[in-house]
Amino acid sequence: MLKTALKTRAFAAAAPGEPLKEIEIERREPGATDVLIDIKFCGVCHSDVHQVHDDWGRAIFPMVPGHEITGIVSKVGTQVKKYKVGDRVGVGCMVDSCKECASCKDGLEQYCENRMVLTYNDIELDNETPTRGGYSKQITVDERFVARIPDGLPLDKAAPLLCAGITTFSPLMHWGAGPGKAVAVVGLGGLGHMAVKLAKAMGADVTVISRSLAKKDDALSMGATDYLATAEADHLEKGKNRFDLIINTVSSAADMNMYMAMLRRDGVMVLVGAPSEALPVHPFSLIPKRLSLAGSTIGGMKETQEMLDFCGKHDIGAEIEVIPMDKINESFERLLKSDVRYRFVIDIESMK
Ligand code: NAP
Ligand code: ZN
Repeated sequence: MLKTALKTRAFAAAAPGEPLKEIEIERREPGATDVLIDIKFCGVCHSDVHQVHDDWGRAIFPMVPGHEITGIVSKVGTQVKKYKVGDRVGVGCMVDSCKECASCKDGLEQYCENRMVLTYNDIELDNETPTRGGYSKQITVDERFVARIPDGLPLDKAAPLLCAGITTFSPLMHWGAGPGKAVAVVGLGGLGHMAVKLAKAMGADVTVISRSLAKKDDALSMGATDYLATAEADHLEKGKNRFDLIINTVSSAADMNMYMAMLRRDGVMVLVGAPSEALPVHPFSLIPKRLSLAGSTIGGMKETQEMLDFCGKHDIGAEIEVIPMDKINESFERLLKSDVRYRFVIDIESMK
């Protein structure tokens, strides 16, 4: 349990699917390598909705969601090296890992072979303290799991980079998005719109695959050169055998075989979207073109900093709708209807 605790305010769900309400929580006073952060903004990821609804079957309540955190360092532990009071920083989806396994040593803490600790809806490595996320005024995090926000990137537009940004940057880098590569992004939501901007800045040719034509103009203005809507009769045919890489961000069950048909020989479809249902794939969706179906989760801390620096250099931030904290339940409803252009970001100072 927390030995020396400080009290702070947060929004939490008390049980699966319950509306979020204000509560008081405790954070640890910074230990030697910790920083205390005054949270300014927190993005609203579809994973927050999945977890509050217990879609993935491992929810811990009361739950304070939020893993797209930006803010200002307000206190540092005695051995903190990278940060000082006043620095602009961010925290993403994880706050700890074993730091000793091969993945952690490779800077891939998100694939920790022992246990990484999620920013919320998890238990610290002490096996007893629940983690609480960024829908709150302050958070204490080990400096290893804190990233620096480049000067020039506003903290509100930068917040979604900490999950939506890194979750799409990492597979784009891993599978070599760049000049000469045809990349398609399925689903133009929080993750999808970041994937479009990042892939475009990497030099790839980007196509958006959405359900309707509603987001076409937005997609083109973000840098896509083409746009397919699966509801349009001829668009599936238009998309056939075209892409080297598909980043699939779909958040609920959809027909994966339909998207696989759009890959060309040796193409890869990477699932980052995480619906709770199984997604059946027919063997003949893969075999005749030597295709691969892959998955990817967030990114390590080294890559997270690289992504932020890349965004600073290319002036990439999220397209956001800033909301006050008390609009959070409404924003969850709107996310479930894909009614977001393209990320809700909570103004934490709106909390009293
Ligand atoms: P979001 O903003 O709600 O966007 C999801 C998009 O998926 C929607 O805008 C919609 O795009 C499309 N979509 C939803 N249901 C669909 C369906 N039945 N068929 C086809 N398309 C559908 O959500 P997000 O925050 O980007 O998150 C997307 C998913 O990624 C969630 O499942 C989330 O949990 C997951 N995620 C995974 C990681 C990871 O590490 N792998 C990290 C963060 C989030 P259109 O309106 O354009 O059709
Ligand atoms: Zn997320």
